[in-house]
Amino acid sequence: AAVSRSVHELLPDTAVYRMGGDEFVLLWQGGDEREFRRDVERVRSLFAGTLGFTASVGCAWVRREDDIGEGLIAADARMFASKRDFYRSSPQSGRYRSGLDDVLDLARPGRLEELLASDSFTLYCQPQFRVADGAVVGGEILLRLISEGKVIPPTQFIPLLESSGLIIPVGKWVLEQSVRQCCKWLACVPDFVMNVNCSYLQMLDEDFVQSVKEIINRYRLDPSHIVLELTESRFVTDQDRLNDTFMRLRSLNIRLAMDDFGTGYSSLSCLSCTPADIVKIDREFIRGICDQSHSFNRSFIGSVINLCHSVGISVCAEGVEEKGELETVLSLEADSVQGFYFSKPVTPDEFEKQHIKHPDIG
Ligand code: C2E
Ligand code: MG
Ligand code: MG
Repeated sequence: AAVSRSVHELLPDTAVYRMGGDEFVLLWQGGDEREFRRDVERVRSLFAGTLGFTASVGCAWVRREDDIGEGLIAADARMFASKRDFYRSSPQSGRYRSGLDDVLDLARPGRLEELLASDSFTLYCQPQFRVADGAVVGGEILLRLISEGKVIPPTQFIPLLESSGLIIPVGKWVLEQSVRQCCKWLACVPDFVMNVNCSYLQMLDEDFVQSVKEIINRYRLDPSHIVLELTESRFVTDQDRLNDTFMRLRSLNIRLAMDDFGTGYSSLSCLSCTPADIVKIDREFIRGICDQSHSFNRSFIGSVINLCHSVGISVCAEGVEEKGELETVLSLEADSVQGFYFSKPVTPDEFEKQHIKHPDIG
């Protein structure tokens, strides 16, 4: 907060995001290249001088009407990788714009608080079923944004949250809500497990593990009821920092799921040494799996499941829409299933009505 205030005093139009630890990303707007370079210098001397600490600062130049875009994702990835200053100085390159930018206006300071206060973010939950007995064993929390009465899917706004750094506070909010909901449902379904999606940026945030621990302790939740999902393409990594996060989460007894398996580039052999406890096979491989023409996918899934089982990883088949897909997945011995065939993601109230049986109601 002190950093934001100081930068704000110096450059009122520049938004500051803390990516965690000593890492900050600044979004600088307007002007020309000379001004940009001058301001970057001013920020650097502010950190070194008045604020009195060295920090890794990534600056991205966004034109007022632009969004903050893909460039910033690349920018902060570079910041993490190199931990040194850099400039991204071409407003022409990497431009990316979506109609949502104007509506969300995420770069405006205080905007996130507004969105949270107005209940613009909301959580849905999709049930997961154990194959062995068909029981509901848990749910996956899925974030939604309500804007002008419309429900916006996460695939549209998560990239904006990531590129603005707001995924860190929003992710924390999601986790806290998920933990709260999980505690409530555990009273009726004692082995309920809540799956929560995480962005790799959250996992790279130095404070992440501590904040997970803090939330779980606050609600006195047994951590074995939480699974954190990270998409495959971010999972398989040689980044020490991410591996360190995985290890620290495991030592808290929080399980990890590799999401969207099959869409990344990991080879099957990666499964033998992955820190994931659960692998979720992407819908892409489940679709039409019962058809003759999909024998490759069937073999692929069969191999994935066998390999996973041989090293103690359980497998969830995602996106089961049809009975035939379910039957095939069952015959291949997946451990759990999730998909529209059973239920779309629904509001927590709806989820409770349908899947959490109140003993006193029957
Ligand atoms: P995901 O984690 O792989 O979530 C599963 C997505 O598949 C969900 O889309 C779900 O609605 C959809 N789905 C489930 N069953 C079926 C099915 O039978 N057929 C089809 N066609 N789709 C099915 P959704 O809710 O739009 O979420 C998309 C992605 O957004 C998620 O993919 C996840 O990567 C991300 N996401 C959602 N919530 C969060 C969050 O709180 N934080 C982060 N970082 N990412 C999130
Ligand atoms: Mg997921
Ligand atoms: Mg998935």
